[in-house]
Amino acid sequence: MPLTLVTIPCLADNYAFLVHNDKTGQTALVDVPDAAPIQAELDRRGWVLSDILLTHHHWDHVDGLPGIRGEARVIGAKADAHRLPDLDLAVSEGDTISICGEDTQIFDVSGHTIGHIAFFMAHSGLAFTADSLMAMGCGRLFEGTPAQMWASMQKLRKLPPQTLICSGHEYTAGNLAFALTLDPNNAAIILRGEEIKAARNNGVFTVPSTLANELATNPYLRADDPDLAAAIGMPGADPVAVFTEIRARKDRF
Ligand code: ZN
Ligand code: FE
Repeated sequence: MPLTLVTIPCLADNYAFLVHNDKTGQTALVDVPDAAPIQAELDRRGWVLSDILLTHHHWDHVDGLPGIRGEARVIGAKADAHRLPDLDLAVSEGDTISICGEDTQIFDVSGHTIGHIAFFMAHSGLAFTADSLMAMGCGRLFEGTPAQMWASMQKLRKLPPQTLICSGHEYTAGNLAFALTLDPNNAAIILRGEEIKAARNNGVFTVPSTLANELATNPYLRADDPDLAAAIGMPGADPVAVFTEIRARKDRF
């Protein structure tokens, strides 16, 4: 049976996620922007945390930890252990760990930060990507290079298309507006744009999104798409060059 997923808005525009195994009663949390809304959701459902997964070291993903840690096992990147809260389990790319009774694969998705990891639960079809692959976007390159982030995007886009991409922020409307400047005539982006606007007007989250939808509309997954290269005036350019240009334009947007 797939795990139950709960999306929790935190702070101004962050998301935390709970996954729960209805059979065993185990519950895991991905990222801790703020303890209070997460604890309220746990209390409402009568769940207790077994594991806490951290994607990267930024304050808006870890600062709530002391208020909610309790007896839970805290898991994060070995490469980032020196600047993450104290970890009970340090993991690296290629590791598979058991979370809520389900095999969970670790990917290194550096770019936004060096040492950013993603968690993939194949059976339930969930990928926790935080500030690497985001809905219609990717995280700003604070520490890594465009080539590193492009390599991370290439890993994530190999996941099954029906995978739910559980990303870290509600940035989708801004990402949509930017994507339209690159590719204004792309029918898939125009259609998704209408869905995003309707969702936001009704206060509905645009996260998580399916990988299939991202593959069709997220410019950062399409740096090797000849149509996108042509649309931005770089026909035939190397994908890293296209990715670099797109990310640079977004930083100025
Ligand atoms: Zn971040
Ligand atoms: Fe963040």
